[in-house]
Amino acid sequence: MKTRNLRSICGMLIMALLVSFTAAAQGKPTIYILATGGTIAGQGATNIAAGYKAGVITVDQLVNAVPGLDQVATIKAEQVANIGSQDMNDEVWLKLAKRVNELLKQPDVDGIVITHGTDTQEETAYFLNLTVKSDKPVVLVGSMRPSTAISADGPRNIYTAVACAADKESKGRGVMVVMDDKILGADDLTKTNTIYVETFQNPNYGPLGIMYNGKPVYSRTTLKRHTYNSEFDVTNLTALPRVEIVLSYSNATDLFIHSAVNAGAKGIVTAGVGNGNVTTLMQNAMAEAVKKGVAVVRSSRIMTGPAAQWDEIDDDKYGFTASWFINPYRARVLLMLALTKTNDYKEIQRMFVEY
Ligand code: GLU
Repeated sequence: MKTRNLRSICGMLIMALLVSFTAAAQGKPTIYILATGGTIAGQGATNIAAGYKAGVITVDQLVNAVPGLDQVATIKAEQVANIGSQDMNDEVWLKLAKRVNELLKQPDVDGIVITHGTDTQEETAYFLNLTVKSDKPVVLVGSMRPSTAISADGPRNIYTAVACAADKESKGRGVMVVMDDKILGADDLTKTNTIYVETFQNPNYGPLGIMYNGKPVYSRTTLKRHTYNSEFDVTNLTALPRVEIVLSYSNATDLFIHSAVNAGAKGIVTAGVGNGNVTTLMQNAMAEAVKKGVAVVRSSRIMTGPAAQWDEIDDDKYGFTASWFINPYRARVLLMLALTKTNDYKEIQRMFVEY
């Protein structure tokens, strides 16, 4: 009798455990990891080598190197590309944006993590910030040390990126980058150091928050339009308008403005000095470009502060757009998307204020 009771109690306990395990498994968010390459998937010749080949390790190898990841979320992984991000291009951007939108439409997908090289991470993050049509979290992550290095930062960064994407608090905040325990907004993202693990900053607005004990702790929300609130839609696009960036400096000539126009650019972003200023020679060529129907956005090569309207250059007189706080690399992304809708400088100016 006693043995039978004991058996049935054990049986009930096992059942209860099974039910709770299944519930926990069902309760875990599903996160897709889309891999594109970069140092995070890089392999060095030795574990201290500064030189290495980016984009070698596959997404499955990356995921397997992160202890405890399966406790945070149910992980599904896809390899979208495996390149150094210096080779990131419109084709991969469009493929990525379309795949992210497709996945996030599925009710059983809770968020996306994208592994990416750090060189152009700010451009891809901003492109997705403007083209993802969902409030579900999208987090980009990279690393500064290859997977074979001592104290490789990739596994911890992947863990925190997944934990951030899996958290309900992360909804509706725009595309983010999680690296070195910081949560950064795509609206003000820039790489500030060529080798340090703490390379990414939001230099104008400050980080959105931090990752602490595997949980996001937010301290700001962006007021800029993004993702579910963006007017840009790449669903039916197979290419993007060509936009070039031209730098200004002492003695800069009009050579590269003319080259961009002659090469068929639909838009030019200038990385000007100070508050988006350029040499007189460049400015004249920019005014000529506008007359030929090329959209011109004035940005600044300085990391913080605006390239503001109503300063030394009368933008309305020439039909230029001022980029405000959007750096030249992000300005190029926004102008490409703006040109899919209009090339009216006032309408483009509105976008540079709103996004
Ligand atoms: N240049 C490579 C890339 O951006 C490696 C740099 C990195 O990921 O940190 O993909």
